[in-house]
Order: sequence, then structure tokens, then C-alpha cells
Amino acid sequence: MKLMPALLATTVLTLSHAAMADEKQLNLYSARHYQTDEALYANFTQQTGIKINRIEGKEDELLERIKNEGANSPADIFLTVDAARLAKAHELGLFAPVASKILETRIPAHLRAEDWYSFSTRARVIVYNKSTVKPEDVQNYEDLANPKLKGKLCTRSGSHPYNLSLMASVIAHQGEAKAENLARGMVANFARSPKGGDTDQIKAVSAGECGVTISNTYYVARLLRSDKPEDIKLMEKVGVVWPNQATTGTHINVSGGGMLKTAPNKAAAVKFLEYLASDQAQRYFAEGNNEWPAVDSVKVSNPGLDSLGKFKADKLPVKNLAMYQAKAQIIFDRAGFK
Ligand code: FE
Repeated sequence: MKLMPALLATTVLTLSHAAMADEKQLNLYSARHYQTDEALYANFTQQTGIKINRIEGKEDELLERIKNEGANSPADIFLTVDAARLAKAHELGLFAPVASKILETRIPAHLRAEDWYSFSTRARVIVYNKSTVKPEDVQNYEDLANPKLKGKLCTRSGSHPYNLSLMASVIAHQGEAKAENLARGMVANFARSPKGGDTDQIKAVSAGECGVTISNTYYVARLLRSDKPEDIKLMEKVGVVWPNQATTGTHINVSGGGMLKTAPNKAAAVKFLEYLASDQAQRYFAEGNNEWPAVDSVKVSNPGLDSLGKFKADKLPVKNLAMYQAKAQIIFDRAGFK
């Protein structure tokens, strides 16, 4: 009888030691590679004592790696950009649902799915050349199909997630037929075959090679914040429009992540996701790439974003962007949007 409590105590102690050892580290697979993220992670370790082992890579490569590692994957958390990629991880059954009141209350419902969360948002805006295109002609995504803009539209590839997610939102709001009309009209207006990233398009618009393009806001904000003389000159020639303000609002995409089903450090993983939704982390997370925090109450002061002003955002659930992704690709293919 007298031995029992001592034995119990020993067992409990051993168990809690094992649990603690597991909780003291976190394996993070991240497709984010911004310098300011260093502070974001250091702050978490300081608050919790949990060390972060970070593996960075390109979005699609990291997803492939987690898939290949299977049940033996050391990954606890996968962070990436674009709703379509997050949805792909979900479809592959890689994420595990997290029961967290903190995440449920802080991340708005339209910015989360059953097993992943958005932590920042970016908008897809229209950028035009002030001397060749009138702003009133490019107030909506639909305007990009107007024959008035023949030979003036530049864009990155139709198979890029940013354009696929935008097209997915058009399908969700207006149906496939109208989405296809838009895709065909855009192709008819191309100044050149799609190539390069969003920044390349802005440069081409500024140089007059094209009249108009679409770009994610953080590329625009980055150029607006730049003090390099060439960037200042570049941005003087272009105007930025928040599309679809009178209708469904400007298309929003996200950066986010979730806990992996095979995560060896689940408790630490949940703590980390909850930390990313905290005020302080939200500021780091969003500002590192000139984005907006997913948590409504968090305010950031970013001169690049501030100069773009306020806008009405599309409140379409991010899950729906993922749902119409495959259809968007079929429509782009049919329309010859390469
Ligand atoms: Fe990007």
C-alpha cells in the first residue's frame, strides 16, 4: 500500500518529462521566405520555450515532400500561400483538424476551412498605364474582356494559382459561362503571351508595352514603399484600381497553414497556430509581405498599403476558391489562356 503513491508519482513524472520533451520543438515546413518572419519565430520561442526547426522551400515542392515522407514526415505545420495550394494539401488528406476556440474566434469563418486557417490576406488589383488607359474603363475584372482594351492586356500565366483563384471567384459569383466569356475576352486583348510574375507585368505597363494588368497588392505595395529612384519613376506612370467595388468586391487570396495529420509534436503545433492568430504575430505575419492580417481587430500601419486606401473585399469563403480551381483551369485551357 505504501509503495503505491511513490510508484504513481514516478510514473507521472516520467510521463510528463516525455511530454515536455515533445513539446519543446516544432518542425515547420514553410513556403514563406521573408526576412521579417525571423522575428515572428523568435518571438514564439521566447514566449513558449518551443524551438522551431524550419524547412523552407517552394510551395509545390514542399507539398510534394510532405506527401512523399508520408507517415514518417517530421513536419508538424505546413505554411504556404494561395487558397488553392492549401486546399490541395487538404484534398491529399495531409492536414488534421484542430479544435481551438482561439482560432475559431479570431480567424473569420470565411477565411478558414475544416483543417486549415488563413493568417493574412492579399487582394488582386488592376494596374493601368495612366497615359494610355482611362481608369473608368478598368473598374471591374469583367472590363478586361472589353474590346476597347484590344492589344493592351498583359498578365502572368493562366495556370498560376493567383489567376486560377481569381477565375474561381468569377465562376462562384457568375457561373461558368460568364467566366469563360471573361477568359476568352482577356485572351483576345492580350498584348503578348503570358510570361513572368506580377512585378514584370507592372513594369511592362509602366513602360507602355501594355496598358493594363492584374497584380497582387503586396507587389504593388513593395514598389510603392521602395525608395529606389527607378521604382519611384515606375510607379509614377501607373494607376491602381480596386476592382468590382460596386458589385462583389475585390478578389482576395490568402496565406495560411495547418497542422499535419502525422505531426509528431501536436501540442506544440496547436500552440503555434494559435500564436499566429495573436495580435503581435498577425502584425509580423502580414507586414513581412505587405499583406493584411486575417484577424479583423488587428491594425497595421504600412505606408505602401495605406497609400492604396480602403476598399470593399470579396467575402467569398476561401474554401470556394479551392472548389472551383479545376474548373478555372479547364476554362483557361479552352480559352487559350496559357
Ligand atoms: Fe506572390
